[in-house]
Amino acid sequence: MERKYVYADNAATTRVLPQVLEVMTPYYLEEYGNASSGFYSFGQRARAALEDARARCAKMLGCDAEELFFTSGGTESDNWAILGAARARKGKKHIVSSSIEHPAVRNTLLKLQKEEGYEITWLDVYENGIVRVEDLEKALREDTALVCVMFANNEIGTIQPIRELVEVAHAKKVPFFCDAVQAVGHVDIDLHELGVDLLSLSGHKLHTPKGIGALYIKKGMWITNLIEGGGQEKRKRSGTENVAGAVGLAVALEFMCGEEGKRERARILALREKLIDGLLEIDHVRLNGDRERRLPGNVNVSCRFIEGEGLIMWLDIMGVAASTGSACSTASLDPSHVLLAIGLPHEIAHGSLRLSLDVDNTEEDVEFILDAVKKTLEKLRAMSPLSI
Ligand code: PLP
Repeated sequence: MERKYVYADNAATTRVLPQVLEVMTPYYLEEYGNASSGFYSFGQRARAALEDARARCAKMLGCDAEELFFTSGGTESDNWAILGAARARKGKKHIVSSSIEHPAVRNTLLKLQKEEGYEITWLDVYENGIVRVEDLEKALREDTALVCVMFANNEIGTIQPIRELVEVAHAKKVPFFCDAVQAVGHVDIDLHELGVDLLSLSGHKLHTPKGIGALYIKKGMWITNLIEGGGQEKRKRSGTENVAGAVGLAVALEFMCGEEGKRERARILALREKLIDGLLEIDHVRLNGDRERRLPGNVNVSCRFIEGEGLIMWLDIMGVAASTGSACSTASLDPSHVLLAIGLPHEIAHGSLRLSLDVDNTEEDVEFILDAVKKTLEKLRAMSPLSI
C-alpha cells in the first residue's frame, strides 16, 4: 500500500490544476507562435490568445486589461513596482513599508537604501501581525515616494487593512504598492475598489506553473521600466510573451475567484480552524498572527522546546510537507524577521511551524497532520536538551 503523504505547504507553491494545464498545452505544441510576430496569422493567433487572457484576468481582478502587465512572477513584479515607482519620483527619497514584507520587497527596499540613498520607515505590526493605520499617517513625509504594504503575509497569513492604508497614503498624494502574491485567488480583491496604484501577483500560488505573474499598474501611474529589450507589453516589460502562462493564469483566476473557488475558500477555512483547534490542544503550542484576519489556509504555530528544522524533517518522515520560519531561505540560522516582528523571542520563533492548506486538502488530511505533529513533538521533546 502506498504511504499517505499530505502536502501542506501551499504557501510555497501549489499543484497545477488539470484544467489549467489543459488550456496551456496547445500553446506549447501547436499554437506556439510569437505573439509579437504580427505579420502572419500564426503570430496573430498567439497575440489574440494573449490579449484574451489579459482581458479575462483583468475581469477577475476588477481592473481594465490595459492596466495589467504579464511578468515572470511575484519577485519580478515586486522589484519592478518598487524600483520603477521610486525612480520615477526623482528627489523623493523616503519609502514606508511594513516590517513583515516578503524578501522580494524587503531586499529591494534595502537595495534602494544601500545603493541609492533611500530612507525606509518600517511600520510595526504589533503582536497580531497587523499594521495600524495611524502609524502610517505619522510616518508619511513631504519626501515620501511610495508606500508598500503587503496584502497578506506569507508566513503568518495576516491580512492588512489595505483600503484604509491606501486612503491615508492618497490623502498625502503618495502612491501605494501592494504585494498580493499570497492573497490573489484566496481572498476577494476588486482592484478599482481597493484603490492601490500597483499590485503584484504570481500564478504558481494559485495553481498555474511557475514562471507567470503580473503587475497591475493603475491608469495614470507612471513607473520606469525594469527590463529593457524588444519593447513588448506596450514597451513597459520587454521579453517574448509567455502566451501559455497567460492563458493558464486566466483559467486559474477564473476558477479561484469564481463560485467554485469561493466555496473552496469556505471549506478550507473550516479545515484551518479545525487544525488550529487541534494544535492548540497540544502543550506549549501557540498560534502566531491574528486568528480572524488571516488567509483561509494559513496556520502558523510556535512549539516551545523544539527546533523548527528538526520538526520539519521529522514531519516529512511522518508524511507531511510543511515549512518553518526558523531558518529562512538564505540558509542562515536567524529566525524569520516576521516572527521577530510580532515580538516572539528567538527561542520560540525557532520552533515555528507553517502549515498551508488549499483546494486539494481534506478533513482526513487535517486529522493526519494533527496525529503526525503530536507524535513528532512527543518524540522531539523526549530527546530535547531544552525540554520541560
Ligand atoms: N511575495 C510574497 C508575499 C510571496 O509569498 C512570494 C513567494 O513566496 C513572492 C512575493 C515571490 O513570488 P514568486 O515566487 O512568484 O517569485
